[in-house]
Amino acid sequence: MDFQLSDEQQQLRRSVREFAEREIAPHVMQWDEASQFPLEIIKELGRLGFLGMVFPTEYGGAGMGYVEYVLAIEELSRVDGSVGIIVAAHTSLCSNHIFAAGNEDQKRKYMPKLASGEFIGAWGLTEPGSGSDAGSARMTAVRKGNNWVLNGTKTFCTNGHYADVVLVLAVTDRAARTHGLSAFVVEKGTKGFRPGKKENKLGLRASDTAELIFEDCVIPAENLVGKECDGFIDAMRILDGGRISIAALSLGMAQGAFEAATKYSKQRKQFGRPISDFQAIQWKLADMATEIDAARLLALRAASMKDAGLKTTQESSMAKLFASEVAVKCANEGVQIHGGYGFIKDYPAEKFYRDVKLCTIGEGTSEIQRMVIARQLLKD
Ligand SMILES: Cc1cc2nc3c(=O)[nH]c(=O)nc-3n(C[C@H](O)[C@H](O)[C@H](O)COP(=O)(O)OP(=O)(O)OC[C@H]3O[C@@H](n4cnc5c(N)ncnc54)[C@H](O)[C@@H]3O)c2cc1C
Repeated sequence: MDFQLSDEQQQLRRSVREFAEREIAPHVMQWDEASQFPLEIIKELGRLGFLGMVFPTEYGGAGMGYVEYVLAIEELSRVDGSVGIIVAAHTSLCSNHIFAAGNEDQKRKYMPKLASGEFIGAWGLTEPGSGSDAGSARMTAVRKGNNWVLNGTKTFCTNGHYADVVLVLAVTDRAARTHGLSAFVVEKGTKGFRPGKKENKLGLRASDTAELIFEDCVIPAENLVGKECDGFIDAMRILDGGRISIAALSLGMAQGAFEAATKYSKQRKQFGRPISDFQAIQWKLADMATEIDAARLLALRAASMKDAGLKTTQESSMAKLFASEVAVKCANEGVQIHGGYGFIKDYPAEKFYRDVKLCTIGEGTSEIQRMVIARQLLKD
């Protein structure tokens, strides 16, 4: 068992950190306040190869693995969770669904553009009436000759307003329930498709969270991704990878909150001493560092198993569950260590506190992760 990152992986981590500190950090609060999507930064990440990290070079990807992807998402999220979730939804949800379930023509058509950032991707499973119970989706796709006709509304879709390509799940056989969902790729500008409400959020405010509305939206038959009625099974496979990215998103924000708290504790003096001299503060920092380390090991284990081609349903959920809960706890302690200044927008603690909560909710809540883990444990 080797716990060391290779020289290349360490170099990758350093270069993403430098990029994030140079290009993202100066704008974070302005984007957050204005709920401004950092389009130019996302395009630049595409040009640098960070929007297709996990895909083979023949499809325009960087030919790296999930370990490298975790390092990159963590480093981006350490500075801004919004950038982290934008890249994660684009890569491990939308692009990966096309890569993992699409046919050769679909991969050739979409992957190079998604990997380079020419196209931005979104993924729509959640509907107003079906979140955790995603299999009870209502949106329909009806076959008419050489076309599919889509009707329905997806909700909470990351990147929805900026997406050139959306991957959506719709019911093609109502009687078959979860085995009656199929996946479709829909391009921006297709008649009958439009993004709807932009959500005004607690955190991750620079990321876009949108409704996707389909009204008699006609798409060609070849836009079915994967086999008809395999959409739900494929979506669950995709979430095995996506949950590793939410673990990485959590880790990055936990690390950012921890570093900010550590720095502040050495500067802030009370009772004539830096507050880091007090054991109560030291124990908080020690617990944060230990739990972040444990979360990182879980995330990297799931990532390296995925890179080895192994099934990671249980390990991805464990990493996502643990890392997200740790991140919420670290962000909370981060505010506490800052005292009143933790409540003020001049310091980064309050933003981590707001942003991090999404991690225990998106791509399956903590309750759902426990259900997934228990189902794996109790199998056979
Ligand atoms: C910022 C943001 C970005 C998102 N991005 C995307 C995206 O890109 N694509 C996409 O498809 N979706 C996206 N989502 C949706 C997200 O995945 C869902 O919000 C999430 O799965 C929970 O669904 P829900 O909100 O309907 O909550 P519900 O399912 O209504 O859950 C409410 C509460 O009930 C609990 N609960 C539900 N069922 C059970 C059960 N059986 N046992 C115990 N407890 C249960 C939940 O854990 C939760 O605490 C995003 C959401 C947000 C907020």
